[in-house]
Amino acid sequence: MAAISAVTNWQTTAAPLNFVETPAKDLFGANVFSRTVMQERLPKPVFKSLQKTIESGAKLDPAVADIVASAMKDWAIEKGATHYAHVFFPLTGLTAEKHDSFLSPDGEGGAILEFSGKQLIQGEPDGSSFPSGGIRATFEARGYTIWDVTSPAYILENANGTTLCIPTAFVSWTGEALDKKTPLLRSMQALNGQAQRILMLFGKTDGAFVSATAGPEQEYFLIDRHFYFARPDLLAAGRTLFGAKPPKGQEFEDHYFGAIPERVLAFMLDVERELYKLGIPVKTRHNEVAPGQYEIAPIFESANLANDHQQLTMITLKRVAEKYGMACLTQEKPFAGVNGSGKHVNWSLGSKTQGNLLDPGDNPHSNAQFLVFCAAVIRAVNKYQGLLRAVVASASNDHRLGANEAPPAIISIFLGDQLTDVFEQIKKGGAKSSLSGGTLTVGVDVLPPLPKDAGDRNRTSPFAFTGNRFEFRAVGASQSIAGPLVAMNTIVAESLDFCATKLEKATGGKPEGLHAAVQGLLTEIINENGRIVFNGNGYSAEWHAEAEERGLLNLKTAADSLPVLGANEVRDLFEKYEVLTPRELQSRLDIYLEQYCKSVCVEAKLTVEMAKTMIFPAAVRYQNELASTCANLKFVGYEFDTNTLDTMTSLVRSLQDSVAALEKTLAHHGHDGVLGEARHLCESVLPAMLVVREAADELEGIVADDLWPLPTYQEMLFIK
Ligand code: ADP
Ligand code: MG
Repeated sequence: MAAISAVTNWQTTAAPLNFVETPAKDLFGANVFSRTVMQERLPKPVFKSLQKTIESGAKLDPAVADIVASAMKDWAIEKGATHYAHVFFPLTGLTAEKHDSFLSPDGEGGAILEFSGKQLIQGEPDGSSFPSGGIRATFEARGYTIWDVTSPAYILENANGTTLCIPTAFVSWTGEALDKKTPLLRSMQALNGQAQRILMLFGKTDGAFVSATAGPEQEYFLIDRHFYFARPDLLAAGRTLFGAKPPKGQEFEDHYFGAIPERVLAFMLDVERELYKLGIPVKTRHNEVAPGQYEIAPIFESANLANDHQQLTMITLKRVAEKYGMACLTQEKPFAGVNGSGKHVNWSLGSKTQGNLLDPGDNPHSNAQFLVFCAAVIRAVNKYQGLLRAVVASASNDHRLGANEAPPAIISIFLGDQLTDVFEQIKKGGAKSSLSGGTLTVGVDVLPPLPKDAGDRNRTSPFAFTGNRFEFRAVGASQSIAGPLVAMNTIVAESLDFCATKLEKATGGKPEGLHAAVQGLLTEIINENGRIVFNGNGYSAEWHAEAEERGLLNLKTAADSLPVLGANEVRDLFEKYEVLTPRELQSRLDIYLEQYCKSVCVEAKLTVEMAKTMIFPAAVRYQNELASTCANLKFVGYEFDTNTLDTMTSLVRSLQDSVAALEKTLAHHGHDGVLGEARHLCESVLPAMLVVREAADELEGIVADDLWPLPTYQEMLFIK
């Protein structure tokens, strides 16, 4: 095949990198308008005022904008920038940018370079085509981008020039959030407010901003671009809608953490280099479970910055893959039958002075402050389990959650042995000791003894305590992490509010009463919310039965879970902590349902089209070949075994029938608006697509290889 020879004869077009000439250390942050750059280039009072906003969340003084803009422009132009862009994060989950040139005519036939404080602070893209969920009609399209001082500006490079990029929030002219950043910033503010009350009770009164922190691990697939472009389903839907399981899949587990293929490693080094320049602290790279699947993870950062950096990471992965002749797939389930891709979002909260507030220390049982924060998370996850499920809901993530490779759709918390034991003791009247890890000896003298972790890992839990943070594993690989972060920040803020109010009441402001009050609070929380804690195997059938007994939600699909966003409890939560108004929340529900419907519709139409124009023609050609062979042989007096021809004929019939059935369900529409439509697509259209796929995949196993029009799983996953 032409594609295979193109793949095997592939040569890189990228110039080789040299980390000796330019050490990674020098590259790091080279394209960022960082604290150091600001300190060098801004007058002292301006620098100080800006840092106050960045570090402690103080109100931005608009008077500094002109000075900052001018310094930013000079810095950017030195780095070759001709344009600046406000970068924002609309509800599509993608990244958007509008570029403007620095050039302005001077009125005398020449031009000057201009960038004012006003241009830095505010932009007005004509964003009428972004989804607003009814907040904005197209005839009143005004949307504003507003400079986010807390996420540094950076330079985006292109072979032909560079652009100054300014992270911004995106709001309507009524001030309503049209994006993912605005609620994220609001939720961080809410979390800080409530965390301060708890810290105050423990005598920590410095007020240093308590920030949510996030470290997202990104999984992705790499396949050769020749295959990618030969698959209309991958191109338009991000996942294969057809494809028989290859004889060899991931069963040998020979890819996981295996040696990274040469071309892939070259790609990774290039990605990392680009990310270093943008100040993104990427740390870990390795092969993942499925063939052709990999992971990249940064060191955690403040949640807002982590979100912006995550978006840039996804863009960079795709961009750099092209240079190496590959396509990077971040969709949740590009290939049936092998593992899908997730994005584990590691989450915690902490401040400059107090450090990580979810760090248990050596003796968690006596670390009352840690236990309060930890219990608050447990209560939050139990109380708002439906919301956590809803914020990871999408058409593509549905194929992953609950598929015995990703966490189940049931939200529960894994605490590990040590913490579970501590909370068990609390339940019984007070915790007196913590299980400790001890030492791990390997039985080989040359290996040093290691301190053993106090708890093992559990890979099946959707929400796991992993030593000093929680890891939310249900997030899909293509999703923006902003939604999950907003949910976590807000539900934990609500829980901390609950705890602080109880403790403040019980102690009456007297520190002596704190210990007893904490004991009472923890007992109450663990008694009322203990059902959410589950340390066992989340894949097992027993767990599904037990979860039901415990009264935990099992929202299997996006159509089941998205409506949670419309629940009174959720509306009140976001309204109370000023993260989303009811209108803003409703708009999100509408948009996500609409996106779900659009995605499934596109996939269904593609299924019909590919079945009719690619698979059916290949099948009848082969059928014809068999039939002529049969006729010719008979003509010269031989017998021909028509088994294969019979199977072909019946499969071609099944294909035709199933396509007709799919077209019929697709022409129907659900009742009751967009939710009804989503249900119809989920319950009737998706199953009908699978029937078409079944016939097609069987055909793939019979039709002559040279007639088959699509690159196979075998080719895409194993030819590197
Ligand atoms: P694993 O695959 O073993 O779970 P990784 O090292 O791939 O772990 O990823 C763990 C992630 O958790 C990293 O991004 C790390 O920086 C992040 N992390 C560590 N501490 C915190 C914290 N306090 N808050 C948020 N994220 C954290
Ligand atoms: Mg990892």
